[in-house]
Amino acid sequence: MTNTPDTLQKFVFEDAAVRGELVDISATWREIVARHHYPVAVKRLLGQMVSAAALLSANLKFNGSLIMQLHGDGPVRLLVVECDSDLRMRATAKLNAEFAIAEDAGLQALVNAQGHGRFVITLDPAEKVPGQQPYQGIVPLDGDDVATVIEHYMLRSEQLDTKLWLAADDKVSRGLLLQKLPLHGGKAETTAHAIEHSQETWNRVVMLGDTLKEAEMLEHGIDELQKRLFWEETLRVFEPLHPHFHCSCTREKVGNMLKMLGQQEVEDALSEQGKLGINCDFCGKHYEYDAVDCAQLFVTDAPAEALMHGTEAKH
Ligand SMILES: [Zn+2]
Repeated sequence: MTNTPDTLQKFVFEDAAVRGELVDISATWREIVARHHYPVAVKRLLGQMVSAAALLSANLKFNGSLIMQLHGDGPVRLLVVECDSDLRMRATAKLNAEFAIAEDAGLQALVNAQGHGRFVITLDPAEKVPGQQPYQGIVPLDGDDVATVIEHYMLRSEQLDTKLWLAADDKVSRGLLLQKLPLHGGKAETTAHAIEHSQETWNRVVMLGDTLKEAEMLEHGIDELQKRLFWEETLRVFEPLHPHFHCSCTREKVGNMLKMLGQQEVEDALSEQGKLGINCDFCGKHYEYDAVDCAQLFVTDAPAEALMHGTEAKH
């Protein structure tokens, strides 16, 4: 296994309002997979989401995190992928232990067994003004794969024609995105001819994308895929970007989570276990809180009166 950095390659089709991106995020993906034991079908789906999140993030003019969540009502309870503006990524899955998962289980079987699955995309700005809520889009799970669901989301919420091809197994995660950009009216170059040319280019390159087989995407790097697909096209290729694994968990954030549980809950758990051990869902890092640490959490900024009530309730 090499430590080759992952690569995200952006390009545009010359003279057409069509852009594309290819990503090979296999090294990051292997770091995520190594921390968990997921069934084959879950790896395929989560790996596809990791590529998709990198592809969408790289196109955003936005300083913050893109969070992709699949809430499921079947074998999968939750899949989460986070990607920030520097393409630092992490991902995790929560499964329902009582379900057996077939190796070839698809999107619907994994997360939408009873029709209550939801796909949520959140854009969480890095610097929020007070009271500002993250932008959140909830997307129905209409489609046999996550690429189709995201394509619907992009059309509805961003009014952008987008096509995605995603492939992942336990070692490799790669993706291709094509997007038709709006041609702004009023400019001299926006002639009927330019519009027609862009539409033709779009139709042609989407057809080329549709020739991609999953096995081909898993086998070949993105340089090779780009050559195979677009060797007859004139591409303008940009400086490559490098997505990588990074977990943003800290002792402070875990502490805040404990605070949200409330003092009583934390004290009850403490009296049962002596100390609290918490593993980060994303990277597996272990955090420990003993009685003194926990008391500290609630002392720091809790009003004295609330603290007394908390203590009284114990007697
Ligand atoms: Zn972590």
